[in-house]
Amino acid sequence: MRAAITRYEAAHQAMGTEFTLVAYGDDPQYLTAVGNEVFDEIDRLEGQMSIYKPKSELSVINRTAASRSVCAEPKLFELLVNAVDHSQSTGGAFDVTAGPLMKAWGFFRGKGRVPSNSEIAQVLRRVGSRHVHLNRAERTIRFDMEGLELDLGAIGKGYAVDRAVDIVRRYGVTRALVSSGTSSLYALGAPPGARGWSISLRNPYSSEKAANIVYLRNCSLSTSGNYEKFFKLGTKTYAHILNPSTGKPVENMLAAIVLAPSACDADALSTAFYVMGVERTREYLATHRDLMALFYLPSSTGRKFRRAILRSDGSSRIGAFFPRTPERKRKSTRKGTSTGASARSSARYATARWDDRSL
Ligand code: ADP
Ligand code: MG
Repeated sequence: MRAAITRYEAAHQAMGTEFTLVAYGDDPQYLTAVGNEVFDEIDRLEGQMSIYKPKSELSVINRTAASRSVCAEPKLFELLVNAVDHSQSTGGAFDVTAGPLMKAWGFFRGKGRVPSNSEIAQVLRRVGSRHVHLNRAERTIRFDMEGLELDLGAIGKGYAVDRAVDIVRRYGVTRALVSSGTSSLYALGAPPGARGWSISLRNPYSSEKAANIVYLRNCSLSTSGNYEKFFKLGTKTYAHILNPSTGKPVENMLAAIVLAPSACDADALSTAFYVMGVERTREYLATHRDLMALFYLPSSTGRKFRRAILRSDGSSRIGAFFPRTPERKRKSTRKGTSTGASARSSARYATARWDDRSL
């Protein structure tokens, strides 16, 4: 007789967020062992990539690479190559060297502060992926100036999700959802009997309101939102995504959501597109494949927002399905849990109000 299908769900704090794994299989103990391995690997990656840990490999690179070439562990090196490629292909909108800017604005351990224009100009001299030299043959990193710092905050959680999915796959699990809080997720296969993993996109003005549902299958989704980390001074709100060309927080953007084959790419690109806005993203998508981008943009009327959806060539191959109303309406009023995947295979996620016409 065939064993009944079991649903496993577990959460784990790492990288300043809560990772969750939901997986289906026929042996609960086996799924628990896979989950433990996944969370061990995420902890290992945090120990390697965190700039909050002085002994992490990335912190050592940041302290040393201006004075000599530093050899990196192969997978970390690959991630840095990917991060520098994204920095270059997005014209610096995603910038892996944005670390000093984050510090200047008090987002690193601090409560937030507004630096003067001259301080920003000083800091910007130490920002730019052109100062990072990667030697692929020797797997080494070298900075060509002092004060440069790599910050994987906009790509590391997506990368960790991909590594977790590698483990899950290696153990023969075919139906799983891995998420790094509200940052990035990967939907492997689909829950039994479902067309995909149901992901609820939150309203940018209220984490309690689910605005949209999207079903994902073998696809990743990442969100960069102005509500994730910010500080207020007077009447002004400063969010944690900085425009490396001005050195200031991006304004007039509520959220950028990217659907892509890998969570690492989706993570880097959601940050990049948040900075680039709709028109520059449209240009980017004209020369790249297999991507979809959703934007939630402020509207002139109160707490409403506008939506824009852009697709590149090949985006129809992305495993994302948007249900039509009335199901969308019904589900969008249902409350979910505040993190990760909730019951019935639904994961609560990021942003906005749907506009049927452009789908
Ligand atoms: P989340 O952390 O919610 O996933 P993002 O993926 O957009 O959000 O990453 C934001 C983080 O990336 C910031 O907290 C900061 O560490 C870093 N960062 C901010 N602006 C940029 C930028 N323009 N390019 C690269 N990294 C950035
Ligand atoms: Mg990101």
